[in-house]
Amino acid sequence: MKNFSYLRATSTQEAVEHANQDTCFIAGGTNLVDRLKAFLDDTSTLIDVSRLALKEINVLSDGGVKIGAMVTNTALANHPQIRQDYPLLSRAILAGASQQIRNMATVGGNLLQRTRCPYYYDTAFACNKRQPESGCSAREGINRMHAILGASEHCVAVHPSDMCVALAALDAVVEVEGTNGKREIPFSEFHRLPGDTPQQDTNLETGDLITAVRLPPNPAAKTGVYLKLRDRASYSFALVSVAAMVSVQNDMIQQVHLALGGVAHKPWRLLETEAFLQGKPATATTFEQAAEVALEDAQPLAHNQFKVKMSKRAIKRALTISAQGGGIV
Ligand SMILES: Cc1cc2nc3c(=O)[nH]c(=O)nc-3n(C[C@H](O)[C@H](O)[C@H](O)COP(=O)(O)OP(=O)(O)OC[C@H]3O[C@@H](n4cnc5c(N)ncnc54)[C@H](O)[C@@H]3O)c2cc1C
Ligand code: SF4
Repeated sequence: MKNFSYLRATSTQEAVEHANQDTCFIAGGTNLVDRLKAFLDDTSTLIDVSRLALKEINVLSDGGVKIGAMVTNTALANHPQIRQDYPLLSRAILAGASQQIRNMATVGGNLLQRTRCPYYYDTAFACNKRQPESGCSAREGINRMHAILGASEHCVAVHPSDMCVALAALDAVVEVEGTNGKREIPFSEFHRLPGDTPQQDTNLETGDLITAVRLPPNPAAKTGVYLKLRDRASYSFALVSVAAMVSVQNDMIQQVHLALGGVAHKPWRLLETEAFLQGKPATATTFEQAAEVALEDAQPLAHNQFKVKMSKRAIKRALTISAQGGGIV
């Protein structure tokens, strides 16, 4: 690990004022410290934001919820309002990492954790995300965990977060404070596809501090489902995951939100599939057809063709369970 200075911010303004290209915010440290140890991040100063007054979860007057960026994964997953109104978010978080890591990990940090592509973490290999224009070792390497949708010739990494897949389905909004003041970013515009700049994971600007995540009210979220498929039953990143919210009236689909994890460089919201499902009968055949639509553009790599079939089955199962009223999967 390289030497760095340490500054403990006492206010969001102080954190933002000191932020520049050579500094880095640290919250729970569960991803950043590993990256620093592996010489992946270069920083002159760590700005500790973990003690900022951003630890509240507030129910808003419209029925939505505002979650402070320093709320831990554990506190968010166990919050009564989240468990009741947004159970898919609670389940997505509990499907990730371990209890100890969730106790330290924060909402802001979860949005900005970086890919778990093994070539990114091993400096002996070329990686465009770590060092632009050096090449991508995963493209022709062991790419079993990698993307099947939205990838580019420069990077085939996937975004590792479970929480973010649920947030994508829930139409969350990210609140940010930067050198030019406060602004809001819709979740669909927060993370980026790799294109020819895979080193940029998000549309944040230098020095931007995430201060909160807002969830709009949505009664359909109560029957939402999060389904995660992985190599081990716990302590493992998703091969494929699905966040699904379906509301059904008189056996017809009224509203549906659907997002995939483990398949792309960002949480993959399936708007075309949602449009396909809208107004159709909530039957096994409809859900099977929807799964075909969802994976129409998939471009698997040498070692991850299995993800196409796995995604289709997961989508069908998540839609079916959500349409039947939700529950633990
Ligand atoms: C062994 C292991 C297994 C895991 N398994 C899973 C899993 O299955 N699913 C899953 O979703 N996650 C998993 N995680 C990831 C874990 O959830 C993240 O490491 C965690 O959410 C990051 O939060 P943090 O507060 O520790 O972030 P930090 O490590 O402190 O920071 C991460 C990044 O976010 C930036 N940052 C932090 N807060 C802010 C802010 N408010 N504004 C701007 N920038 C900020 C930092 O500068 C840094 O770049 C796992 C982690 C480990 C170590
Ligand atoms: S997939 Fe992306 S992160 Fe992995 S080696 Fe290629 S460029 Fe690096």
